[in-house]
Amino acid sequence: MSNETVQAVRGMNDILPEEARLWLWFEEVVRDWLASYGYRNIRMPLVEPTALFKRAIGEVTDIVEKEMYSFEDSLNGDHLTLRPEGTASCVRAVLQHNLLYNAPQRLYYSGPMFRHERPQKGRYRQFHQVGVESLGFAGPDMDAEQILMCARLWKKLGLSDVTLQLNTLGDADARHRHRAKLIAHFEQYQDLLDEEAKRRLHSNPLRILDSKNPAMQELIEAAPKLMNELGDDALAHFSALQDMLKRHGVAFEINPRLVRGLDYYNRTVFEWVTTRLGAQGTICAGGRYDGLIEQIGGKPAPAMGFAMGVERLLVLMHEAGMKPPGYDVDVYVVHQGELASTLASQVAERLRDGNLRAILHCGGGSFKSQMKRADSSGALVSVVIGDDEAQANEVSVKPMRGGNQMRVSVQDMLATINTFIKQE
Ligand code: ATP
Ligand code: MG
Repeated sequence: MSNETVQAVRGMNDILPEEARLWLWFEEVVRDWLASYGYRNIRMPLVEPTALFKRAIGEVTDIVEKEMYSFEDSLNGDHLTLRPEGTASCVRAVLQHNLLYNAPQRLYYSGPMFRHERPQKGRYRQFHQVGVESLGFAGPDMDAEQILMCARLWKKLGLSDVTLQLNTLGDADARHRHRAKLIAHFEQYQDLLDEEAKRRLHSNPLRILDSKNPAMQELIEAAPKLMNELGDDALAHFSALQDMLKRHGVAFEINPRLVRGLDYYNRTVFEWVTTRLGAQGTICAGGRYDGLIEQIGGKPAPAMGFAMGVERLLVLMHEAGMKPPGYDVDVYVVHQGELASTLASQVAERLRDGNLRAILHCGGGSFKSQMKRADSSGALVSVVIGDDEAQANEVSVKPMRGGNQMRVSVQDMLATINTFIKQE
């Protein structure tokens, strides 16, 4: 046995209590925000059959090619994968339980996602997303709704430096025409392509446009544009969305190179980006995926969704100076002696009955050392019980941030503490 301490898996973070306060607050804000648009929570397993992601995300994508935590269940031979994203699971659940039978659905989920990437700031192997999906909505009004929602959330979170990039990928026929032209274009310049581009040339040429390789930028600039292939319906959809965004005063930039790393998108795609996070500047990304439901075995239905990266958002909130309001605990109960201890635990329960957050000191020690704990707990008030107080069924109430200690009956304790707390 080695006595080295065991460390967490690389790229998978502990979120310690001090930091978790910001997470909890973020989650509260997000929950209220989603409720205000009528979105309902759905919770899927963290593990799914590997085939689901291969089919939904696409075989020739970064995620499926090299980022998935896939394994064989050694007990029964099942091929399983830790979810790298939520859309595929969400759609699977909706189909499995026939949720689209009666009405379209506005849904959201949140939780950890897993991708085997090179860990760096803003890029982890276990990271967290809040995902929002609207299923059964075809029109651009839903595209606008989701984008407006995001804009509202950034305001609530105090983020100002985020901008919206927008593009349309058109429908399947336009993409097929474009694909053929892209392949023809890149085939002419085979020797200028890097290894990845060569590999993707016939399987997923659209992704070559996404390449960050400086040596290929000129070639990419000169490539045939999807815009020129778009059908009338897709164009009308895209321009209606733009009109709606303008009417609501949401600024956007059209980025023809925005193609997204997953195969299932069509028509509208968007990303919210910031310059504050270096290369990891996308905080939220999504789009339409009208073909996905059919692709994984459902009756065809249009759909649209987005996911935001919680870690990246929290860094921005931190930088914007956003701090969770409030403090963790109201009262710390200090006690010494057998009689006092019995009373102290009753008193602590009484405080909780009165909706106060109370810590009962555990582990004994002198009054002085207990008061130190009370101090560092951040409590506004301490309740001190010695044998003297206990005999009289009384307690001493001491405001921690200045003010006089008061001795009161257990009966009057709550009222006294509440006046102290109100003064803070
Ligand atoms: P990127 O281009 O940064 O790799 P992506 O296109 O792979 O992002 P999506 O699958 O669209 O990302 O996920 C939506 C959001 O989730 C991203 O915009 C980002 O904020 C966040 N995200 C994605 N991968 C990670 C990761 N490994 N660590 C932390 N956050 C991530
Ligand atoms: Mg990625």
